[in-house]
Amino acid sequence: MRLVVLGGGESGVGTAILGKKKGYDVFVSDFGKIKNNYKEILLLHKIKFEDEKHSEDLILNADVVMKSPGIPDKVPIIKKIIEKNIPIVSEIEFTNQFTDAVTIGITGSNGKTTTTMLTYHLLKQGGLNVGLAGNIGKSFAWQVSEGKYDTYVLELSSFQLDGIETYKPHIAIITNISPDHLDRYEYKYEKYIASKFRITMNQTEEDFLIYDADDEAITNWLKNNSTRAKLIPFSISKPLDFGAFLEENNIKINTTNENFDMPTSQLSLEGKHNVKNAMAAATVAQLLKIRKDTIRESLSDFQGVEHRLEKVLKIQNVQYINDSKATNVNATFFALDSMTTPTIWIVGGVDKGNDYTELLSLVNEKVKAIICLGVDNAKIIETFADVVDVLVETTNMNDAVKQAYRIAEKGDTVLLSPACASFDLFENYEDRGRQFKQAVQNL
Ligand code: ADP
Repeated sequence: MRLVVLGGGESGVGTAILGKKKGYDVFVSDFGKIKNNYKEILLLHKIKFEDEKHSEDLILNADVVMKSPGIPDKVPIIKKIIEKNIPIVSEIEFTNQFTDAVTIGITGSNGKTTTTMLTYHLLKQGGLNVGLAGNIGKSFAWQVSEGKYDTYVLELSSFQLDGIETYKPHIAIITNISPDHLDRYEYKYEKYIASKFRITMNQTEEDFLIYDADDEAITNWLKNNSTRAKLIPFSISKPLDFGAFLEENNIKINTTNENFDMPTSQLSLEGKHNVKNAMAAATVAQLLKIRKDTIRESLSDFQGVEHRLEKVLKIQNVQYINDSKATNVNATFFALDSMTTPTIWIVGGVDKGNDYTELLSLVNEKVKAIICLGVDNAKIIETFADVVDVLVETTNMNDAVKQAYRIAEKGDTVLLSPACASFDLFENYEDRGRQFKQAVQNL
């Protein structure tokens, strides 16, 4: 069987190694440049590859093609593969056939990484032999090729889910759904929602789907469609007979005989959104019979993830927070919502069709100054000019942080939560977050 792997990144190289180990004749092709360290690994495993081109004669003779999640369907080589009826699968789909491991699949528009890391932390502390994969760290395929774990927590983007056919997680989480990446879905929100729900399409009665019952896109889909999985809702706004919910600032989970409870004040992560993330992760841990004390301890000592409401430094009693990963309005909504002191808000970048009006009342209540950090800030200025006293523009991170420093008074917070992608001024959100942290250090 000939396996052609398109894309020589983490996902592709992992799949190639696994395929080779399982006896496939493997070929890796990348239209861009394959990083040197990956080339070395491919050579080491005696796997044939090419980069900076796609040789049709070496690709169109495949029995199966693994497409890395970053490659859109509309590229010419994919069209040709489809015309020839060669099956195209994703890394998750390909890998799943070679493992009996229990998987927990986590998707959603925001909170995937945080919830995945949190769930992994809980299960690991609980003594399970658990791996972490999907969009994070070492690829699922690679780890399965090493056969180290019997449980995996997988972060699954909609692109990963678009490439599954038979894969099902034993426990799925949909953290929330709000418009994002619509360019990949013909600008149709329903298509993006449907893509997220692919996570449950192969689940059966013995599986679970944990979801945000406060989220309209999710509850509407569930009203109009069906899944065989057992549904476990979580909510921060209403009590539930079954699921995870809040009662007087206590998280309650009543999905098993062993009811769980924990005061939200003991969570290490701040913000309402993190109460939701904690509920979802703790529900998984409950289902997998982790001890309640361990769940509580692990939710209290979880360190958080870089660039997500990350506390950087306190300077002259002003707290600086890096939330560079907030690349859409919904993420920034929860960041602003969690601010407890007057806030100087650094916002802007490439907007993916943002509607900022959702933020108006929070900005009115909490924000004393806005620093626009983007090439085009017109929409932000138009929305908020009448709501805040100070609004300045810059295209330089150092300058943004210096201006924030000048405006801030004792007890204030300076929050970078851009609600936008970073590509106008930065390489990616990590670069933006690191530049922010460096600029704060420089103060
Ligand atoms: P993803 O992997 O889905 O992008 P992250 O955990 O990296 O999610 O968080 C992305 C951004 O969304 C961060 O700014 C974070 O603070 C915020 N966020 C985290 N969890 C949630 C949630 N449940 N709802 C809304 N925003 C969230």
